[in-house]
Amino acid sequence: MTSAVRGEMFMFDRAAETMPREALEALQLHRLKETIGRAYAKVAPFRRKLDAAGVKPDSLKTLADIVRFPFTVKSELRDNFPFGLFAVPREHMLRLHASSGTTGKPTVVGYTRGDLELWADLMARCIACMGGKPGDVFHNAYGYGLFTGGLGFHYGAERLGLTTIPVSGGGTERQVMLMQDLGAHILGATPSYALNIAEVASAMGRRELEDKFAIKAMDVYGLSEIIGPGVASECHQAQHGLHIWEDHFLCEVIDPETAEPVPSGEAGELVLTTLTKEALPMLRYRTRDITRLIEEPCACGRTHRRMLRVTGRSDDMLIIRGVNVYPSQVEAVLVGFPGLAPHYQLVLTRQGPMDALAIEVELAPARPRDEPFAAKMAADLRHHVKAMVGVTCDVVLKAPGEIPRSQGKAVRVKDLRQTTKP
Ligand code: ZN
Repeated sequence: MTSAVRGEMFMFDRAAETMPREALEALQLHRLKETIGRAYAKVAPFRRKLDAAGVKPDSLKTLADIVRFPFTVKSELRDNFPFGLFAVPREHMLRLHASSGTTGKPTVVGYTRGDLELWADLMARCIACMGGKPGDVFHNAYGYGLFTGGLGFHYGAERLGLTTIPVSGGGTERQVMLMQDLGAHILGATPSYALNIAEVASAMGRRELEDKFAIKAMDVYGLSEIIGPGVASECHQAQHGLHIWEDHFLCEVIDPETAEPVPSGEAGELVLTTLTKEALPMLRYRTRDITRLIEEPCACGRTHRRMLRVTGRSDDMLIIRGVNVYPSQVEAVLVGFPGLAPHYQLVLTRQGPMDALAIEVELAPARPRDEPFAAKMAADLRHHVKAMVGVTCDVVLKAPGEIPRSQGKAVRVKDLRQTTKP
């Protein structure tokens, strides 16, 4: 989410957000016991899994006992498609969302009335945490529909008291006009689509709006299997890490290979357990997102721990000539390069027995394309990627606009290794 932050600190739910750690952990334990007990009683596949692992709901005496319980992975949602993991009858659900399955069936998630109330409250909390205030104009360019982004932000913004414009994705020129004419204070969009809107605004000569894009970009985190957006958000005071709403979600960080907890503050895969969801309780859900937890107290006064912006996905990890590479590591190198635009693609091919990585990246629009400059830039970039990421690559500099733009999440990797001949 992107927000022009004005004025004083506003907290949506001060008591919950600043609860002392001891009280917060006592609340977590109470809610965790309730969740496991209810899921064990109501969800047959959940019960079978706990029985197979030799644990019962009352095996959990302290929060630390969570490690004795089995994980949940995304394929279990597909295996129990559509309603097998739900803890309430289908007719008690007010809404269903589904993720776009790239292969086979999508995964379906459901919400009771209580879940929808909780979701709106948590999204209101996120928007307030990022600096939004009642009365702000919220331009919502997240996709509406089965995807949880659009409606998740929509109800949260309304709950907080924002003037909410349900624009959804696409029709970028119309987005620009509406943002200007209706006086947007806050733009809700994926980072790649926000860039797309900014470019179109610039091309349309909307000078005033262009200036507005010199704004604070704030990150919100979530996934539909847990609730949708609303699991964690940055605070505008520190803008360093996202507060995970620990009164509703229990978080762990594990080594994705061994599944063991990592030492405090080290990078690993985020694992989430829902503490208050009714329709679809999740125990130790493996998000595949790579992050680190910040244990230190935050300047904003909130006591909920923070996770760093997600730096990769354990299943997005590319193995290039035996080196583990996250696309986000390459992105981190690219954004540090003056003269480059933040539009890129990683293209992987097989050349003989070897993997070959090409980074296609655009030159910044203001940069006149001259050959000596481009050659030096490409050489510098190759050197930095080798030094920072540990792989050798080719660099292909593209003219502004040559990399395909996205209407949602950007496609950053083209892995052609299966289709190129060995
Ligand atoms: Zn904070």
